[in-house]
Amino acid sequence: MNAQPFATTDRIALCRECDWVMRMPPRAEGEAAHCPRCHHHVAGAAQRDMQRPLAWSLAALIMLALVFAFDFLSFSTQGIGHTMSFVDAAGALAGYDYPSLAALLMFTTVGLPGLYLLTLAYLCAIARKGPGNPFAIHLARRLRPLEPWMMSDVFIVGVLVSLIKIVTLADIRIGPSFIAFCIYAALLLRTLTLVDWISLWDRLAPLPARASTTIETGRTGASQQLVICRGCETPFHVSRRHDCPRCGRRHPHYGFDRIQLTWALLATATILYIPANIYPIMSTTSLGSTDPQTIIGGVLHLVHTGSWPIALVIFVASVVVPISKIVALGWLCLAASYGWHDDSPTQMRLYRLTEKVGRWSMIDVFVVAVLAALVRAGSLMAIEPGPAALSFAAVVVMTMVAALTFDTRRLWGDTFNADSA
Ligand SMILES: [Zn+2]
Ligand SMILES: [Zn+2]
Repeated sequence: MNAQPFATTDRIALCRECDWVMRMPPRAEGEAAHCPRCHHHVAGAAQRDMQRPLAWSLAALIMLALVFAFDFLSFSTQGIGHTMSFVDAAGALAGYDYPSLAALLMFTTVGLPGLYLLTLAYLCAIARKGPGNPFAIHLARRLRPLEPWMMSDVFIVGVLVSLIKIVTLADIRIGPSFIAFCIYAALLLRTLTLVDWISLWDRLAPLPARASTTIETGRTGASQQLVICRGCETPFHVSRRHDCPRCGRRHPHYGFDRIQLTWALLATATILYIPANIYPIMSTTSLGSTDPQTIIGGVLHLVHTGSWPIALVIFVASVVVPISKIVALGWLCLAASYGWHDDSPTQMRLYRLTEKVGRWSMIDVFVVAVLAALVRAGSLMAIEPGPAALSFAAVVVMTMVAALTFDTRRLWGDTFNADSA
């Protein structure tokens, strides 16, 4: 095993959020680095070797495999019972003609995290053999953008909300697969906190020898035509080349003003939020009569039946979060466009908050998926997803993409000079 020492000299780091160029001293084991200007996590807790993320990602993968081996939940009412596996949640959505929602559920809860864990385990293992593996570099530069789309933890909350919603109507049993899913989600979160991308990249592809010789610290990157590679976090002069000298990732859109794209995505999300509230998100069939429920109708029903804590969770996740996110991002776009830089740290905090809470809006979509898969007792009781589930999922995805396209460097008044790019 080659436990390589940490870099012993200072290195140049560029904050991807506020564009500040800084000198980063060598980190001791477990030491993280933050941007002095915006407090962004420039480097995670330093890992001397890649054994820990490797072990945690393998443990998470084993638990993920167990999720598919057992029953997830079972439901019975008046002698009619039904047991669902994890895959049934997606199967129910596909069965009710919502294949895109089924794909979204599988993609965000198990597909993407599974792929991420497998790739990470491979990279941690290959990193021990030293740099120069082009396939590993190719994989590594594509891995990090996947992180915001992993929603296993959101799905667990969705399952718990579903169970509380129907616990008074039927007898519910939790299966071993659900326990395995909870452990898998916890292991996944732990693995994410253990990845030290800077040390991992040092092992996969060493820093280009002359990358930092003409870079000045204590200035913005834009003032030196310096950008940070979105693949490997290495600063490089984009005026000289558009592909990263370390990982080869191309950055052809340097200088492109993406704020129009953020506006367009926000407008799309706002339009989609209208059908998401007009149409029913699910329909409950009980003793032959069908009761369609909108998002707000469902919240009011929960309040009337005394389940106000669950009503509050759904109201916050499905109404407060999406609306606040659209308003907050709209305001940040205005601040960036008109140069309102009086309080950039507060604007930055607002952006990070919208980015963090946005994915939790998916709770209601997951609730619908779980209930549709679980509550299947024929005409006695059945739950069917409604068209609003699709529009609402699209609102969540659009607002998440809008947040990802927003260029936070513009909040600090350090815009790109597109002409000099
Ligand atoms: Zn910063
Ligand atoms: Zn790169």
